[in-house]
Amino acid sequence: MRDILFWFRDDLRLDDNEALLRASDLGRVLPVYIIDPAFFKKTKLGFRKTGAFRAKFLLESLKDLKVGLQAKGSDLIVRIGKPEEVLAEIAQQRDALYVLASKAVTQEETSQEHKLSLELKRLNIDLELVWQATLYHVRDLPFQIKFLPDVFTDFRKIMDKQATVRDANPAPDFMHPLTDIETGEIPSLEELGFGKEEIPGENFFKGGETAALARLNEFIWETENIKNYKNTRNGLLGNNFSSKLSPWISLGCISPRRIYSEVKKFEEQVVKNESTYWVIFELIWRDYFHLVALKYGVRLFKRCGIQHDLVKNWRMDKTQFQQWMDGETGIPFVDANMRELKETGYMSNRGRQIVTSFFTKDLKLEWWWGAMYFESVLIDYDVCSNWGNWNYLAGIGNDPRPNRYFNITKQGEKYDPEAEYIKNWLPELKNLPAEILHNFDKYHAEQINQYGVELGIDYPAPIIQMP
Ligand SMILES: Cc1cc2nc3c(=O)[nH]c(=O)nc-3n(C[C@H](O)[C@H](O)[C@H](O)COP(=O)(O)OP(=O)(O)OC[C@H]3O[C@@H](n4cnc5c(N)ncnc54)[C@H](O)[C@@H]3O)c2cc1C
Repeated sequence: MRDILFWFRDDLRLDDNEALLRASDLGRVLPVYIIDPAFFKKTKLGFRKTGAFRAKFLLESLKDLKVGLQAKGSDLIVRIGKPEEVLAEIAQQRDALYVLASKAVTQEETSQEHKLSLELKRLNIDLELVWQATLYHVRDLPFQIKFLPDVFTDFRKIMDKQATVRDANPAPDFMHPLTDIETGEIPSLEELGFGKEEIPGENFFKGGETAALARLNEFIWETENIKNYKNTRNGLLGNNFSSKLSPWISLGCISPRRIYSEVKKFEEQVVKNESTYWVIFELIWRDYFHLVALKYGVRLFKRCGIQHDLVKNWRMDKTQFQQWMDGETGIPFVDANMRELKETGYMSNRGRQIVTSFFTKDLKLEWWWGAMYFESVLIDYDVCSNWGNWNYLAGIGNDPRPNRYFNITKQGEKYDPEAEYIKNWLPELKNLPAEILHNFDKYHAEQINQYGVELGIDYPAPIIQMP
């Protein structure tokens, strides 16, 4: 029997993994994950391309995947190197029938696919790429990708009316055991070059399909938090205002179709309301950015954005960039969000909108620096969602109102009226009243000093006067 190489990418699951199911129906599968050291290198901006939160989450996910594969009779082969080279090498050694993997849409990933297909062609081995990262299948779009609407609402309305979500697939029942091949060890964070001081402690997010399915179960069935999602989703504090599924979705530990099918079950068995629909609505947003990436290609990453805006100017102020990253801008609502990100790798959707708007519309800094920082730190980094949202908020993407402005004071008063969130992440400001915290730049140092906070010593003076 000839081997079929299955290349795991951002689809680290057994459930609803159509490509894996197809491979295991065909014969003996060699499941491989390649860790590319380039992923963890420092960028020109001074931080790693993939920071410690996501690296840790990835290693946990691989461990869980390995256990899952072993339970099916197989195992996970782990190698370190350039995926296209290592895969071609294994395929050649094993005289593989062909290589199967999930299809990606963005520049770095598709260029890997291209290089791999060239290597394999030389060996007369086929590469099959299966579309499976989104809720809707690309072949079920009722239009060609070049006609993807540039406004989300237009897209969503078309999809709601004219497209259906395919059923989620089961996990393979059984997989052939591996023979005569070293599986290799899953490396530690230290082995990937992370220093001891960089390694995060345990937190809410534990990588892997097992934890993903448990979180889905908790959000939908155990707590029934899904019932109120539309009202709570703009929350900031705690673990239950939103699904918190994003890290698992991004790495593919769970598929959007599995989430969809559980939501539908809940709607049939318990209740169907605006909130249950809104979870699907957000997954459609995710699909949208995936398709925007497919439509616009490398423009997503260019300074001029998908709108090809060559007029907008962005400031290259490295000091302010550092202050923003460190949560040291002297604008408490922004800083609280940035400190949460730095300390946990997560930030709420509301928070991301606020700090991104502040970065691009108030500080007017080079927007892609901010997107690169998010790429490094976010535990749930997803190339399409991150760069698509940054384009959107910088006013060079899909926002039909590109001059949309988030007034930080008003946002703070609305979403954190008692400033509990601010005080949670900036304990040095815990004695100040909410009114001052939301209008910090309007108060003098002496007024702030009355609460025991010395500007420039305990907490920075605002780097900008807000409008
Ligand atoms: C500047 C910026 C950068 C972002 N970068 C990322 C990223 O790298 N990875 C990522 O998964 N999300 C990103 N988002 C979207 C969103 O903030 C997160 O998906 C969400 O906060 C994750 O929390 P949750 O799982 O509890 O979301 P929920 O509110 O429970 O939503 C359910 C799921 O829907 C999807 N989703 C929700 N909102 C969006 C959105 N605006 N765009 C795309 N998908 C969405 C996510 O997969 C999410 O897990 C970004 C948003 C902004 C404004």
